[in-house]
Amino acid sequence: MNLGIIGCGAIGSDVAKAADRMREIKKIYLYDRDKKAADTLCRLLRKAEVRKVEDFIEDVDVVFEAASQQAVVEYGLKVLRAGKDLIIMSIGSLFDDQLRKKLENTARRKRCRIYLPSGAVCGIDGILAASIEKIDSVTLVTTKPPSSLGRRLNKRTVVFDGNAREAVKKFPRNINVAACLSLAGIGFDRTRVKIVADPVVNRISHKILAHGRFGRLRAEMENLPNPNNPQSSYMASLSAIAILKRIVDPIQIGA
Ligand code: NAD
Repeated sequence: MNLGIIGCGAIGSDVAKAADRMREIKKIYLYDRDKKAADTLCRLLRKAEVRKVEDFIEDVDVVFEAASQQAVVEYGLKVLRAGKDLIIMSIGSLFDDQLRKKLENTARRKRCRIYLPSGAVCGIDGILAASIEKIDSVTLVTTKPPSSLGRRLNKRTVVFDGNAREAVKKFPRNINVAACLSLAGIGFDRTRVKIVADPVVNRISHKILAHGRFGRLRAEMENLPNPNNPQSSYMASLSAIAILKRIVDPIQIGA
Protein backbone atom coordinates (compact mmCIF):
# COMPACT_ATOMS: atom_id res chain seq x y z
CA MET A 1 0.00 0.00 0.00
CA ASN A 2 1.20 3.53 -0.76
CA LEU A 3 0.37 6.43 1.56
CA GLY A 4 0.16 10.16 0.87
CA ILE A 5 0.51 12.58 3.79
CA ILE A 6 -0.71 16.18 3.73
CA GLY A 7 0.79 18.14 6.64
CA CYS A 8 4.19 17.28 8.10
CA GLY A 9 3.76 18.84 11.55
CA ALA A 10 3.45 17.02 14.88
CA ILE A 11 0.79 14.46 13.90
CA GLY A 12 1.89 14.02 10.27
CA SER A 13 5.45 13.30 11.45
CA ASP A 14 4.35 10.75 14.08
CA VAL A 15 2.20 8.95 11.52
CA ALA A 16 4.89 9.05 8.82
CA LYS A 17 7.46 7.55 11.21
CA ALA A 18 5.04 4.78 12.19
CA ALA A 19 4.13 4.13 8.53
CA ASP A 20 7.83 3.94 7.67
CA ARG A 21 8.05 0.94 10.03
CA MET A 22 4.92 -0.80 8.67
CA ARG A 23 5.78 -3.66 6.35
CA GLU A 24 2.49 -3.28 4.41
CA ILE A 25 3.30 0.33 3.45
CA LYS A 26 5.67 0.43 0.52
CA LYS A 27 5.96 4.12 -0.26
CA ILE A 28 5.14 7.39 1.55
CA TYR A 29 4.62 10.67 -0.29
CA LEU A 30 4.89 13.84 1.80
CA TYR A 31 3.39 17.24 1.14
CA ASP A 32 3.39 20.37 3.28
CA ARG A 33 2.83 23.94 2.14
CA ASP A 34 5.99 24.63 4.15
CA LYS A 35 8.41 22.68 1.96
CA LYS A 36 11.08 22.72 4.65
CA ALA A 37 8.81 20.74 6.99
CA ALA A 38 8.31 18.04 4.32
CA ASP A 39 12.02 17.93 3.42
CA THR A 40 13.11 17.68 7.08
CA LEU A 41 10.69 14.81 7.74
CA CYS A 42 11.65 13.08 4.49
CA ARG A 43 15.29 12.91 5.58
CA LEU A 44 14.24 10.87 8.66
CA LEU A 45 12.38 8.22 6.65
CA ARG A 46 13.43 5.31 4.46
CA LYS A 47 10.40 5.05 2.16
CA ALA A 48 9.47 8.69 1.68
CA GLU A 49 9.54 11.18 -1.14
CA VAL A 50 8.36 14.83 -1.24
CA ARG A 51 5.77 15.55 -3.94
CA LYS A 52 2.81 17.86 -4.51
CA VAL A 53 -0.61 16.32 -3.85
CA GLU A 54 -1.50 16.54 -7.55
CA ASP A 55 1.71 14.64 -8.36
CA PHE A 56 1.22 11.76 -5.91
CA ILE A 57 -2.54 11.28 -5.96
CA GLU A 58 -2.53 8.65 -8.71
CA ASP A 59 0.21 6.64 -7.00
CA VAL A 60 -1.35 6.23 -3.54
CA ASP A 61 -4.11 4.12 -2.00
CA VAL A 62 -4.78 6.30 1.05
CA VAL A 63 -4.22 9.97 1.84
CA PHE A 64 -3.72 11.08 5.44
CA GLU A 65 -4.60 14.71 6.17
CA ALA A 66 -2.97 16.29 9.23
CA ALA A 67 -2.68 19.90 8.10
CA SER A 68 -5.66 22.21 8.66
CA GLN A 69 -9.34 22.66 7.92
CA GLN A 70 -8.31 24.64 4.86
CA ALA A 71 -6.39 21.61 3.57
CA VAL A 72 -9.55 19.47 3.84
CA VAL A 73 -11.40 22.06 1.75
CA GLU A 74 -8.51 22.26 -0.74
CA TYR A 75 -7.74 18.56 -1.18
CA GLY A 76 -10.56 16.44 0.29
CA LEU A 77 -12.70 16.27 -2.84
CA LYS A 78 -9.67 15.90 -5.14
CA VAL A 79 -8.52 12.84 -3.20
CA LEU A 80 -11.94 11.18 -3.20
CA ARG A 81 -12.65 12.03 -6.85
CA ALA A 82 -9.42 10.17 -7.68
CA GLY A 83 -10.97 7.17 -5.91
CA LYS A 84 -8.56 7.20 -2.97
CA ASP A 85 -9.40 6.67 0.70
CA LEU A 86 -8.99 9.67 2.97
CA ILE A 87 -8.12 9.90 6.68
CA ILE A 88 -9.09 13.30 8.08
CA MET A 89 -7.50 14.69 11.27
CA SER A 90 -8.94 18.20 10.91
CA ILE A 91 -12.42 16.84 11.62
CA GLY A 92 -13.63 20.30 12.63
CA SER A 93 -13.93 21.04 8.90
CA LEU A 94 -16.92 18.67 8.84
CA PHE A 95 -19.04 21.09 10.86
CA ASP A 96 -19.67 22.58 7.45
CA ASP A 97 -22.72 20.48 6.48
CA GLN A 98 -22.32 21.26 2.77
CA LEU A 99 -18.68 20.20 2.64
CA ARG A 100 -19.40 17.05 4.66
CA LYS A 101 -22.22 16.00 2.34
CA LYS A 102 -20.11 16.62 -0.76
CA LEU A 103 -17.27 14.51 0.65
CA GLU A 104 -19.67 11.77 1.70
CA ASN A 105 -21.47 11.65 -1.66
CA THR A 106 -18.22 11.60 -3.61
CA ALA A 107 -16.82 8.79 -1.44
CA ARG A 108 -20.01 6.80 -1.98
CA ARG A 109 -19.92 7.38 -5.75
CA LYS A 110 -16.24 6.47 -6.00
CA ARG A 111 -16.55 3.55 -3.55
CA CYS A 112 -13.86 4.85 -1.27
CA ARG A 113 -13.75 5.57 2.47
CA ILE A 114 -13.34 8.54 4.76
CA TYR A 115 -11.76 7.62 8.10
CA LEU A 116 -12.12 9.88 11.14
CA PRO A 117 -9.76 8.93 13.99
CA SER A 118 -11.17 9.30 17.52
CA GLY A 119 -8.30 11.64 18.36
CA ALA A 120 -7.81 12.71 21.94
CA VAL A 121 -10.97 11.09 23.34
CA CYS A 122 -11.98 7.55 24.19
CA GLY A 123 -15.49 6.14 24.10
CA ILE A 124 -16.25 6.86 20.43
CA ASP A 125 -16.60 3.10 19.83
CA GLY A 126 -19.27 2.93 22.54
CA ILE A 127 -21.16 5.93 21.16
CA LEU A 128 -21.06 4.42 17.66
CA ALA A 129 -22.56 1.15 18.83
CA ALA A 130 -25.06 2.92 21.09
CA SER A 131 -26.26 5.07 18.18
CA ILE A 132 -27.75 2.02 16.48
CA GLU A 133 -30.49 2.42 19.09
CA LYS A 134 -31.97 5.56 20.65
CA ILE A 135 -29.51 7.78 22.56
CA ASP A 136 -31.12 10.28 24.93
CA SER A 137 -28.12 12.51 25.55
CA VAL A 138 -24.39 12.90 24.89
CA THR A 139 -22.26 15.39 26.79
CA LEU A 140 -18.59 16.22 26.32
CA VAL A 141 -16.89 17.84 29.30
CA THR A 142 -13.50 19.26 28.37
CA THR A 143 -11.33 20.48 31.24
CA LYS A 144 -8.30 22.64 30.54
CA PRO A 145 -5.77 24.66 32.46
CA PRO A 146 -6.99 28.31 32.19
CA SER A 147 -3.77 29.30 30.36
CA SER A 148 -4.62 27.03 27.45
CA LEU A 149 -7.88 28.97 27.06
CA GLY A 150 -5.98 32.24 27.24
CA ARG A 151 -7.41 33.06 30.68
CA ARG A 152 -6.14 33.76 34.17
CA LEU A 153 -8.50 32.30 36.75
CA ASN A 154 -8.00 31.19 40.33
CA LYS A 155 -11.08 29.00 40.64
CA ARG A 156 -12.77 26.32 38.55
CA THR A 157 -15.03 28.07 36.03
CA VAL A 158 -17.45 26.73 33.41
CA VAL A 159 -16.55 28.91 30.43
CA PHE A 160 -19.01 27.34 27.99
CA ASP A 161 -22.15 25.25 28.25
CA GLY A 162 -24.13 24.76 25.05
CA ASN A 163 -24.35 22.54 21.98
CA ALA A 164 -21.43 21.37 19.84
CA ARG A 165 -22.25 23.70 16.95
CA GLU A 166 -22.11 26.78 19.21
CA ALA A 167 -19.00 25.48 21.00
CA VAL A 168 -17.08 25.41 17.77
CA LYS A 169 -17.84 29.03 17.00
CA LYS A 170 -16.65 30.17 20.44
CA PHE A 171 -13.83 27.67 21.02
CA PRO A 172 -12.51 26.56 17.64
CA ARG A 173 -9.62 24.71 19.32
CA ASN A 174 -12.02 22.08 20.77
CA ILE A 175 -13.49 21.54 17.40
CA ASN A 176 -12.02 18.15 16.43
CA VAL A 177 -13.11 16.21 19.50
CA ALA A 178 -16.60 17.75 19.49
CA ALA A 179 -16.99 17.10 15.75
CA CYS A 180 -15.94 13.45 15.99
CA LEU A 181 -18.27 12.83 18.94
CA SER A 182 -21.21 14.60 17.25
CA LEU A 183 -20.78 12.61 14.04
CA ALA A 184 -20.53 9.32 15.93
CA GLY A 185 -23.64 9.97 18.00
CA ILE A 186 -26.53 12.41 17.88
CA GLY A 187 -25.22 15.26 15.74
CA PHE A 188 -23.90 18.79 16.28
CA ASP A 189 -27.14 20.32 17.53
CA ARG A 190 -27.99 17.72 20.19
CA THR A 191 -24.48 17.01 21.52
CA ARG A 192 -23.89 19.09 24.63
CA VAL A 193 -20.43 20.54 25.26
CA LYS A 194 -19.17 21.90 28.56
CA ILE A 195 -15.77 23.59 28.69
CA VAL A 196 -14.24 24.03 32.12
CA ALA A 197 -11.17 26.08 33.00
CA ASP A 198 -9.59 24.61 36.11
CA PRO A 199 -6.43 26.10 37.65
CA VAL A 200 -5.78 22.84 39.54
CA VAL A 201 -5.21 20.79 36.38
CA ASN A 202 -2.17 20.84 34.14
CA ARG A 203 -3.47 18.42 31.49
CA ILE A 204 -6.33 18.59 29.00
CA SER A 205 -8.99 16.01 29.77
CA HIS A 206 -12.10 14.99 27.86
CA LYS A 207 -14.99 13.18 29.49
CA ILE A 208 -17.90 11.70 27.54
CA LEU A 209 -21.19 11.02 29.30
CA ALA A 210 -24.10 9.41 27.50
CA HIS A 211 -27.26 7.49 28.16
CA GLY A 212 -29.88 5.78 26.07
CA ARG A 213 -31.41 2.39 25.29
CA PHE A 214 -27.97 0.76 25.68
CA GLY A 215 -27.51 1.95 29.24
CA ARG A 216 -25.05 4.58 30.48
CA LEU A 217 -21.55 5.44 29.23
CA ARG A 218 -18.83 7.34 31.02
CA ALA A 219 -15.39 7.60 29.41
CA GLU A 220 -12.55 9.87 30.39
CA MET A 221 -9.15 10.60 28.91
CA GLU A 222 -6.39 12.66 30.47
CA ASN A 223 -3.99 13.74 27.77
CA LEU A 224 -0.27 14.36 27.73
CA PRO A 225 0.88 16.85 25.11
CA ASN A 226 2.62 15.77 21.92
CA PRO A 227 6.38 16.17 22.55
CA ASN A 228 6.65 18.06 19.22
CA ASN A 229 3.62 20.32 19.64
CA PRO A 230 2.35 21.15 23.15
CA GLN A 231 -0.97 22.34 21.64
CA SER A 232 -1.68 18.83 20.34
CA SER A 233 -2.50 15.80 22.52
CA TYR A 234 -0.18 12.86 21.90
CA MET A 235 -3.20 10.54 21.84
CA ALA A 236 -4.35 12.22 18.61
CA SER A 237 -1.24 10.88 16.85
CA LEU A 238 -1.65 7.45 18.42
CA SER A 239 -5.27 7.19 17.32
CA ALA A 240 -4.27 8.13 13.76
CA ILE A 241 -1.61 5.41 13.73
CA ALA A 242 -4.21 2.95 15.06
CA ILE A 243 -6.49 3.81 12.11
CA LEU A 244 -3.65 3.18 9.69
CA LYS A 245 -3.01 -0.18 11.35
CA ARG A 246 -6.70 -0.94 11.09
CA ILE A 247 -6.57 -0.34 7.34
CA VAL A 248 -3.69 -2.77 6.85
CA ASP A 249 -4.56 -5.38 9.52
CA PRO A 250 -6.76 -8.39 8.72
CA ILE A 251 -8.31 -8.34 12.21
CA GLN A 252 -10.66 -5.43 12.92
CA ILE A 253 -11.21 -4.78 16.62
CA GLY A 254 -13.95 -2.65 18.15
CA ALA A 255 -17.15 -1.06 16.88
P1 NAD B 1 0.98 21.18 13.28
O1 NAD B 1 0.78 22.65 13.31
O2 NAD B 1 2.07 20.57 14.10
O3 NAD B 1 1.23 20.75 11.74
C1 NAD B 1 0.41 21.12 10.67
C2 NAD B 1 1.26 21.12 9.39
O4 NAD B 1 0.38 21.24 8.28
C3 NAD B 1 2.23 22.30 9.32
O5 NAD B 1 3.54 21.82 8.97
C4 NAD B 1 1.65 23.21 8.23
O6 NAD B 1 2.64 23.87 7.47
C5 NAD B 1 0.87 22.23 7.38
N1 NAD B 1 -0.28 22.84 6.70
C6 NAD B 1 -1.25 23.62 7.23
N2 NAD B 1 -2.16 23.95 6.30
C7 NAD B 1 -1.78 23.34 5.15
C8 NAD B 1 -2.32 23.29 3.84
N3 NAD B 1 -3.45 23.97 3.51
N4 NAD B 1 -1.68 22.57 2.89
C9 NAD B 1 -0.52 21.91 3.20
N5 NAD B 1 0.05 21.92 4.43
C10 NAD B 1 -0.58 22.64 5.39
O7 NAD B 1 -0.45 20.55 13.64
P2 NAD B 1 -0.79 19.09 14.22
O8 NAD B 1 -0.78 19.14 15.70
O9 NAD B 1 0.02 18.07 13.51
O10 NAD B 1 -2.34 18.98 13.78
C11 NAD B 1 -2.71 18.80 12.43
C12 NAD B 1 -4.22 18.94 12.26
O11 NAD B 1 -4.88 17.95 13.06
C13 NAD B 1 -4.79 20.30 12.72
O12 NAD B 1 -5.82 20.71 11.85
C14 NAD B 1 -5.39 19.99 14.09
O13 NAD B 1 -6.49 20.82 14.40
C15 NAD B 1 -5.86 18.56 13.89
N6 NAD B 1 -5.96 17.82 15.16
C16 NAD B 1 -6.96 16.91 15.26
C17 NAD B 1 -7.12 16.21 16.43
C18 NAD B 1 -8.24 15.21 16.55
O14 NAD B 1 -8.53 14.78 17.66
N7 NAD B 1 -8.88 14.82 15.43
C19 NAD B 1 -6.25 16.42 17.50
C20 NAD B 1 -5.21 17.31 17.34
C21 NAD B 1 -5.08 18.01 16.16
